[in-house]
Amino acid sequence: MSLRFCQGPECHTHKTKDRIKGMKGSKTYQTRRRSSFYYGGENFCSLNCQNDWFNEYGDLAIDHFGRTTKAKHLTEENAWYKDYDWYSDYPNRQYIYRNDITKEQRPLTEEQYNDKSYNLNTGE
Ligand SMILES: [Zn+2]
Repeated sequence: MSLRFCQGPECHTHKTKDRIKGMKGSKTYQTRRRSSFYYGGENFCSLNCQNDWFNEYGDLAIDHFGRTTKAKHLTEENAWYKDYDWYSDYPNRQYIYRNDITKEQRPLTEEQYNDKSYNLNTGE
């Protein structure tokens, strides 16, 4: 089990008892370290730490990966989304690819449903 650090730049400044670590006499508040986190793609121990990160680096990250500068449009080509029949129970769940514009439906396997790279959308 590998431990990872919370990526919040101010994590060590949020004073909670579980952050106090170190040898007796030299204890300090430290960045949280866990086997898993729930926030921000498992990178942050709390929403506070996720927000701290965004406040510090959000603009840089958006500029790096591409800022949205014009409206995107939902069209037939990019309106596909994965869904399942909410009345069907696991393991017999019925997976469906639906088009939000044309209302077309196509069957989907569980594997395709879980595969993030499997996608019918062709437009932006
Ligand atoms: Zn944190």
